[in-house]
Amino acid sequence: MTAVVWIRRSLREHDNTALVKAAENHEEVIPFYVVDKNYFETAELGYPRVKFWRDSVKELKTRLQKNGKDLVIRQGKPLEQLEKLSKEIDADKVYFNRDYSPYSKKRDHKIREELDIPVETFKDIVMFEKKEILTNSGSPYKVYSYYSKKWFEKDKRRPQKPGNYRVPDLESEELPSLKQLGFEKPENMNVWEGGRENGLKRLEDFKQKITDYEKDRDYAWKDGTSKLSPHLKFGTISIREAFWEAERVEARNPENKGVKTWQEELAWRDFYFQMLWNFPETTEKPFLEQYESLDWRSKEEAEEDWKRFINGETGYPFVDAGMRQLKNTGWMHNRLRMVVTSFACKDLWLDWKDLHSYYSKMFVDAEIASMVGGIQWAYSIGTDAQPYFRVFNPWTQGEKYDPEGEYIRKWVPELRDVPDKYIHRPYKMTELAQQNSDCRIGEDYPEPIVNHSEKRDDAIQRFETARE
Ligand SMILES: Cc1cc2nc3c(=O)[nH]c(=O)nc-3n(C[C@H](O)[C@H](O)[C@H](O)COP(=O)(O)OP(=O)(O)OC[C@H]3O[C@@H](n4cnc5c(N)ncnc54)[C@H](O)[C@@H]3O)c2cc1C
Repeated sequence: MTAVVWIRRSLREHDNTALVKAAENHEEVIPFYVVDKNYFETAELGYPRVKFWRDSVKELKTRLQKNGKDLVIRQGKPLEQLEKLSKEIDADKVYFNRDYSPYSKKRDHKIREELDIPVETFKDIVMFEKKEILTNSGSPYKVYSYYSKKWFEKDKRRPQKPGNYRVPDLESEELPSLKQLGFEKPENMNVWEGGRENGLKRLEDFKQKITDYEKDRDYAWKDGTSKLSPHLKFGTISIREAFWEAERVEARNPENKGVKTWQEELAWRDFYFQMLWNFPETTEKPFLEQYESLDWRSKEEAEEDWKRFINGETGYPFVDAGMRQLKNTGWMHNRLRMVVTSFACKDLWLDWKDLHSYYSKMFVDAEIASMVGGIQWAYSIGTDAQPYFRVFNPWTQGEKYDPEGEYIRKWVPELRDVPDKYIHRPYKMTELAQQNSDCRIGEDYPEPIVNHSEKRDDAIQRFETARE
């Protein structure tokens, strides 16, 4: 009895649901990875994410080989490769974990319909999926707080170790290099390394400070969040491992709120996955239909503003620091994701879909469900979104969450010597302060790109017109 476990984004052996199930029912199991060239050619991908993915696949193969097993890698179309391998080994069944993005849904549907051996799929990448959590009247939740109450109440499975299985000797292709896939490291970019070992280390480190999460998580200059997002994206750590490891800390600190606050973020992740599943049209249009008529400026129309925004040259230090952290590392702190996205909307009136494309290429953790959810939240057009009249003030956000300007100075080095008094509003520097800090406004660092109060009022007006 031989099974194929088609591994996609659960890049680990431990607690990989499809693998656990296959090992329960089959003596011979082939962990199988198909490098889907079509995906690399058509998806909006960028170096940080592709590198993280490649590191993780490579490490999984090495880990399996160390235990006398293997990850069989082939390149091509998933259906063709699965058919070919199944014939080669006379497989009885194909197992895989479910995914919820439009691309995956279409691909997986084809596999289920056209593969001529039985296929079984599993929930793995989320704690609760699809319609598992519904309102009392049986419809999907659109408001997070009610959803999360049920999310916390429901029983959660613990991580599982796969039982024994044997991997036969099979031909495996080389994993293509990043260059072969068309990705080169951008200059000056320090991207994260993928792989389970790094994920486990990150989880262990974070457990030491999770009790401070509630008070630290919003401060951009502190390293107060887990930075596990790409590991959850690529499944180098499972959602169950993350949740239950945090529970262990809570058991020792029952009074502390840090763990619960952090687990709420895991629930947000599930919430956005169920939104994507139940309202798939939101990848193309606002969840709130009344805002479909808003006429955003495309990046071509707003060429100069767009360039300054993505390069972190808006003259708003906190916004610029966020965009430069992203450009330098492929990751951005959540507080900044909210602030810069709100700025793109309410101050620059940029099209959210252009932003989505840019983030998809830049984020190491790009996850369509959370990204659509997060962008539409900040644009006030999504489910449970920030109300349109509550506009983030890019100066006071910085003053509150980066009071000494540490984060700003780190990512916007031309502001390094600007006195605290001016760090959030450098355009107000006196002649002398500009001279002393070696930062001339208009030369070394720009004037604010727009007048925030005017743009704020304009944006509110546009939203109000759309609502009429
Ligand atoms: C505009 C915008 C775009 C975003 N795009 C993405 C994205 O592409 N991929 C992504 O993983 N997250 C996205 N987020 C959510 C959040 O910013 C990141 O998950 C978080 O910053 C990752 O850092 P962390 O792992 O240290 O998070 P932690 O604070 O340690 O949180 C733990 C985990 O919970 C999940 N999580 C945390 N916050 C959220 C949230 N608001 N929504 C959904 N899940 C959350 C993540 O998986 C995260 O790793 C976006 C948020 C906004 C406002």
